[in-house]
Amino acid sequence: MARIADLLAAGRTFSFEFFPPKTDGAQLSLGRAIGELEPLAPSFVSVTYGAGGSTRQRTHAVVSWMRKETTLTPMAHLTCQGHVRAEIREILNDYAADGVENILALGGDVPTDGEPAPSDYTYASDLLEDVVADGRFSVGIAAHPELHPRSPDRATDRKFLAAKLSRADFAITQFFFDLDVYVQMVNELADLGVTKPILPGIMPVTNKSQIRRMAELSGAAFPAWLAERLDRTDDAEEIRRIGVDTATELCQGLLDAGAPGLHFYTMNRSTATSEIYANLGLSPTR
Ligand code: FAD
Repeated sequence: MARIADLLAAGRTFSFEFFPPKTDGAQLSLGRAIGELEPLAPSFVSVTYGAGGSTRQRTHAVVSWMRKETTLTPMAHLTCQGHVRAEIREILNDYAADGVENILALGGDVPTDGEPAPSDYTYASDLLEDVVADGRFSVGIAAHPELHPRSPDRATDRKFLAAKLSRADFAITQFFFDLDVYVQMVNELADLGVTKPILPGIMPVTNKSQIRRMAELSGAAFPAWLAERLDRTDDAEEIRRIGVDTATELCQGLLDAGAPGLHFYTMNRSTATSEIYANLGLSPTR
């Protein structure tokens, strides 16, 4: 087992993100993806948390299973939306009892269906304070290179992000496609005196319409150069290949620029991540 802060202090980390499955079929797909990705020996893996606490049990089940049944070091995502302090204490106690040592403290979004559950927290930084004060976890936070969609302007986004990151061990970014947006964010935070590790989030394109929708929701720009490359074809396999090639180029650029590692959004599939890993020459015996 390992704390991510210690892993980052020792060198670059390479990590994979999964989401908790909703159906028996999705459960099998996740199991297969983990089985195929575990031999790549990632530094850690993470499991997302549903809006408003909707996957509390399922996220916990997957994280604890990974901890007990695999060689992987898991990190649990946790959001402040939909939780009061007593629930967060209970969730942290359950993770600590299962030997889980890493938490990603997030704002989360208010669920679009139904009444939002009561919450003692407004911002990720509020939750972060409680997880840091608990003392049993290495704690990460989210960063948005192209600004969080609710931020009124760049300076305000960076001010709150710098304050949040100065209290956490590391950040993981929303996905993006242009190297420059990552480098600019790292420089802006350094100008504000914050140099903690910021792991770039990598989302390989595997489906044109899905990635456009996700970029729109997350505030990531869908650059003209990428649209132009993808619009040359409607062949699914060719689109996947372009996605893997462009993600490989971005990853290599990030590593060359000094990124402290790479965090892959796997979408519970193994192929694109495995191919990028191979293209980058990342050794499973690292
Ligand atoms: P915050 O840090 O709270 O920021 C949200 C907005 O509030 C920003 O505009 C910020 O500038 C502003 N703000 C922050 N502090 C203050 C303050 N004191 N006063 C005024 N404004 C302030 N969502 C999920 O539901 N589950 C997940 O598992 C999940 N995993 C994610 C993993 C990564 C790596 C990333 C990048 C995002 C993830 N998200 C997840 C999405 C995330 O929850 C949303 O983007 C959410 O809207 C914001 O989360 P945050 O942690 O950045 O929030």
